[in-house]
Amino acid sequence: MKIFEEIESEVQSYARSFPRVFHKAKGEFLYDEEGQQYLDFLAGAGTLNYGHNNPLFKEKLLDYIHEDGITHGLDLHTRAKGDFLETFNEKILKPRNLEYVVQFTGPTGTNAVEAAMKLARNVTGRENIIAFTNGFHGVSLGALAATGNSHHRNAAGVSLNGTSRMPYDGYLGDDIDTNAYLDKVLSDSSSGIDHPAAVIVETVQGEGGINTASFAWLKNLEQVCRKHEVLLIIDDIQAGCGRTGTFFSFEEAGIKPDIVTLSKSLGGYGLPFAMVLIRPDLDQWKPGEHNGTFRGNNFAFVTAKAAIDHYWSDDKFSNEIKRKGDYVSKRLASIVEQYGEGNFTARGRGMFQGINCINGELAGKITRSAFKKGLVIETSGADDQVVKFLCPLIISDENLKKGIDIVEQAIKEVCAKENTIPEEVNYFDNEHLDQLGNE
Ligand SMILES: *Cc1c(COP(=O)(O)O)cnc(C)c1O
Repeated sequence: MKIFEEIESEVQSYARSFPRVFHKAKGEFLYDEEGQQYLDFLAGAGTLNYGHNNPLFKEKLLDYIHEDGITHGLDLHTRAKGDFLETFNEKILKPRNLEYVVQFTGPTGTNAVEAAMKLARNVTGRENIIAFTNGFHGVSLGALAATGNSHHRNAAGVSLNGTSRMPYDGYLGDDIDTNAYLDKVLSDSSSGIDHPAAVIVETVQGEGGINTASFAWLKNLEQVCRKHEVLLIIDDIQAGCGRTGTFFSFEEAGIKPDIVTLSKSLGGYGLPFAMVLIRPDLDQWKPGEHNGTFRGNNFAFVTAKAAIDHYWSDDKFSNEIKRKGDYVSKRLASIVEQYGEGNFTARGRGMFQGINCINGELAGKITRSAFKKGLVIETSGADDQVVKFLCPLIISDENLKKGIDIVEQAIKEVCAKENTIPEEVNYFDNEHLDQLGNE
């Protein structure tokens, strides 16, 4: 369709990697206008954990619309909101011994991050927030200051203030505990790092290239935060809602963050929805201080409740994710063993895994080849060098196998064609410039 070239902005990114007009979707499949079927290993960058048009949620949503349920209500109390909060409290918070109050922000992840950072600063009276190398927290100015990626940062047009950058787990090699450095600079009044309000961190960095923090590192980070009276914010926007195998990605690390941000798959149906979980004594907001027209999406309350009722009332779904995650681990390890030779390594946790390629050019060739074979799969990381497996968690075993088979075949072909893999990326080559936009 010509219209996209005519009047849609150059800012498009995913559309460049998958130049088709998509029309329908169901479960783990996307369909283009011509009816061509694609297996979806992008899944809205982690927004479609329960698949496209999940029939369980669709029925609830259609009933709600038929009954003229509230669609928009600012932050008014609605039945749908109340029912969601009850379910979230009973089935998610209480069984995990977590006590939080819930703030509904504007319906994007970045708005939840803005609220979390603002609150941490207001409560502590400190400005600085520690963020990590390769972290991604959104692209509105406050959140962008915590995001590492220079492509995104350079678009800001103003200086990005109020954050300090620390090395993430593994950044300096496997043997170096980067928390020791954080602890040291926070202990040293002449380190040049202002005493921070909070630390904001992803347990697995999604956009940053599936960098995975160990449970020990996360536990340590919590201790360093407690020692220096710094708040711990877990940005669980991509890693949460089951992606790593548990509802919250930090559960198995045994930590209790002070603030948690959630969005992406929270609404269940792919509807925009975001919220901030706040330790009750930190909820020092004054009425309306952080507002927004679309705070809490009533359609998303309905589908988010349905998602929790159906998938999180017991540990069946969690066990399923872990089982599938183990399968992905095995397959990726075997691919790396067969074709690796220093060019590939596997990384990730649960259903949040990827293959790290030696450079973005190679990763791009693999994902383009996979797309020709009917698989939608993207890259992430500083140089788009990580092929990111992010299929819906509800995917059938058969299609999970099929998707990985396609990537394996693509790798085989790309490696055979290359024989020698290019050592360096030419930054002036147009193909690479195109890729830079694809995040
Ligand atoms: C996607 C993402 C965000 C930003 O969410 P938007 O809805 O794109 O604003 C923030 N943090 C993490 C970890 C994310 O993956």
